[in-house]
Formats: sequence, structure tokens, C-alpha cells
Amino acid sequence: MQKFSIWSLLRNAMSYHEGWERQWRSPEPKKQYDVVIIGAGGHGLATAYYLAKEHGIRNVAVVERGWLGGGNTARNTTIVRSNYLWDESTALYEKGMKLWEGLSQDLNYNVMFSQRGVLNLAHTLQEMRDTERRVTANRLNGVDAEMLSPAQIQEIVPFINLNTRYPVLGASIQRRAGVARHDAVAWGFARAADALGVDILQNCEVTGIRRDGGAVTGVDTAKGFISAKKVAIVAAGHTSVVAGMAGIRLPLESHPLQALVSEPLKPIFPTVVMSNAIHAYISQSDKGDLVIGAGIDQYSGYGQRGSFHTIEHTLQAIVEMFPIFSRVRMNRQWGGIVDVSPDACPIIGLTPVKGLYINCGWGTGGFKATPGSGWVLAHTIAQDRPHALNAALGLDRFYSGHLIDEHGAAAVAH
Ligand SMILES: Cc1cc2nc3c(=O)[nH]c(=O)nc-3n(C[C@H](O)[C@H](O)[C@H](O)COP(=O)(O)OP(=O)(O)OC[C@H]3O[C@@H](n4cnc5c(N)ncnc54)[C@H](O)[C@@H]3O)c2cc1C
Repeated sequence: MQKFSIWSLLRNAMSYHEGWERQWRSPEPKKQYDVVIIGAGGHGLATAYYLAKEHGIRNVAVVERGWLGGGNTARNTTIVRSNYLWDESTALYEKGMKLWEGLSQDLNYNVMFSQRGVLNLAHTLQEMRDTERRVTANRLNGVDAEMLSPAQIQEIVPFINLNTRYPVLGASIQRRAGVARHDAVAWGFARAADALGVDILQNCEVTGIRRDGGAVTGVDTAKGFISAKKVAIVAAGHTSVVAGMAGIRLPLESHPLQALVSEPLKPIFPTVVMSNAIHAYISQSDKGDLVIGAGIDQYSGYGQRGSFHTIEHTLQAIVEMFPIFSRVRMNRQWGGIVDVSPDACPIIGLTPVKGLYINCGWGTGGFKATPGSGWVLAHTIAQDRPHALNAALGLDRFYSGHLIDEHGAAAVAH
């Protein structure tokens, strides 16, 4: 694999940038793979990369019905944090955070991870209590977290209006949290996985999952049957549809989730601000756009767009909190389909079908987990049993009742 560095940049500049190699191949499918991963979003590509890198399993195909990164991975608002409430989920998100901190070096690809801090505002006394509880739980789990007073919030964002209809009483901040460049995450994992021998098969929809009795035998695709003894479903909002092909019903709902960006502005917004109470959050991208996200649209469906009143409500909230932006024009709005589980926690692990694995239920917040999720799923596939980090996040929790309720930490889209 061609290495990116200041020296390769200089060398290629001298030759009119004609020497750059293709980032990944476009191979034809083989008849048989050791592992087939359905879905070339960040999670599927990360799984393939860690399978090859950490477990030496390189005869792997990632099968994608559209183009890689064309799902939620490149539709999300890129917030990365690990300040969840419960031990089980925090441990996984924190594993992800540690991988993020070395990801650009590991992949030799700049994923533009910017640790600019994430603030979660509290607007009521109850929210203050919940926020303090979460900060304490985070610290007990070794995750950085602090409480901020209204004056401290204003030191970071001087133009914030704290006297909204429900006045801002305080906030939590995770300073190691931040944002990353979503496309680069998909491209970086794709390039590194491809270099290790993984085949990425784009425009190749999976139309069926074949079983022989209780075990998986392969997948039917738009380019023919591919045989594999291990198949992983990593299809985000379409997980229920794909799992249905193997006769599995999952406790998931698929909802549209919207986001929008403004015209580019000069650097003005130094952090990420989220408010669960008024259902809005905002950051600024390196291009200068304000990146704004909303809550989910309440109906379920697979149309990658949302309803107008949701973005209207979100923008009302943003303008109330940041009147300085009231005349900024919005450039683009879009939606993705998120797979929401009953306890707002992911489902990663084995299924009742031998050799079939799932990674889903990330809802509004799976981008931040991309490296961590790929890392534990790769381990689960390679060893045919969950890693300690995803042992509590299996499908069996919906039978045993050991739910991990993260609605408080995951309520607003993030
Ligand atoms: C508007 C919005 C904002 C968000 N903001 C954040 C945020 O700020 N922070 C955060 O942490 N998370 C956020 N999320 C959630 C995050 O984007 C997702 O949880 C995460 O990207 C899921 O990654 P993935 O790789 O599993 O899914 P995807 O990137 O959606 O990949 C799944 C892939 O499976 C493919 N596929 C589906 N069916 C088939 C089939 N039959 N055959 C082959 N391929 C198939 C799809 O085409 C898709 O490419 C947001 C989501 C949205 C929509």
C-alpha cells in the first residue's frame, strides 16, 4: 500500500500528482470466502479491517448494495464521545475512543479526529441531577467528565443565550470528545482492509441468506451466490430486512433521522453543544458549515428523508439558543435510516443461526463506535463467541430482561 506522508506528498507534487495509486480495488466476487460481511458502512469495513489485521482472517468480502459509506456513515453529524451512563456501554464506547485517538496513524489516513469537547446542556433541576450522576459514573469508569456552571459554558461559547424558555442551569463536558470526518473514516478503513486482501464488492445487493438446517451457508447477491460459513449482518437501518432473509426477527424499529448544514462561515463555533431538552445539537465543520442535528422522526420507514416539522422545530431551538445565527442560510438537509433498539443500546453478537452474526441497534449514535464496534465484532466472528466488551450486548438480553437502558445518555440524535 502506498504510504501517505509529507515525503510522498512532496514526491508526488514533483510529478504533477500523477503517481497516486487507486485507494482500493474493485474485484469480481470469488465463489467462496471465509467471512462475508453485509454492508460497507464504517462498521462493516472496520470489522473486515480488524478481522484481517488482528486475527489474520483475510479471505473476507464486504458486500455493499450501493457505494461504500453511502449509508448512515456519510450521513451522520460525526459526534464522537464515550460519556454513556452504564458500565457495559461505556466500556465499549471508551474502547472506541481509545482507538479513535490513534486511528489516523493506524490507518495511515487522516480521519480528521478533532477533540474539541462536547457539552451536554441541562435545562431543569432533574436534568442537573441526571447530568451529575452521569459525570460521576463516567469518572468511576475512567472516562473524563466535568460539570460546568453557566458562566463556564459562556467562557467556551460567549454568544450562547442561556435564558431560553427552560434556562440553561449547567452542563457536562467531555473534553476528549469531538468530531471526525465521516467519509475519511469509511475510506481509511476501506483502503487499509483492501491492502490486507479484503474484497470490497460495491453495487452488489444481498438478496438472500442461505441456511442448511441451523447453519448459514452463504448469501445470494446481485452478482450470484457467494458461499461462506460465517456471515455478519452490519446493515444499520436495513438490519431487520436483511435478518428477515435468514428467518430472524429482531427487536428493532427503523426511523428516519435528519441533519442539515448551513452555508460556510468563518470559524466561530469551537466545540459541540447538545441539548436533549430542546432536541437540537450543533457544531462547525472544518469547511465552516454549521452542522445541525435533530431528534428522530417518530414514524418508522425506509425513505431517506424526514418531515419538515422536525427540522423546523430543531431550527427554532437553535435560533433561540444562538440568536447570532438567526440569519444564516441553510444549504442542505438530508435523512438516514437508524435502527433503534428498545434500550437504546447496540446488539452485537451471535444469532440463533450458527455462523450468522449481527451488529445493529446503534440508533442515532453509532458513528462514534465505528472502530470499537468493528474491533469487538471481528473478535466475535473470529472466536465464535463475544468479547468481554460485547458480552452484555447480545440478543439474549431481550429474553433474560437484562436491558441496559441508555435512553438518558442517547435521547437526542448524536
Ligand atoms: C442524520 C444522522 C446523524 C447522526 N449523527 C451521529 C453522530 O453525530 N454521532 C454518532 O455517533 N452517530 C450518529 N448517527 C448514527 C450513525 O450514523 C450510525 O449509527 C452509524 O453510521 C452506523 O454505521 P453502519 O456502518 O452500521 O451503517 P451504514 O453506514 O448505514 O452502513 C450499512 C450499509 O449496509 C448496506 N446495506 C443495507 N442493506 C443491504 C443489502 N441487502 N445488501 C448489501 N448491503 C446492504 C447499506 O447500503 C449501507 O451502506 C447519525 C445518523 C444519522 C442518520
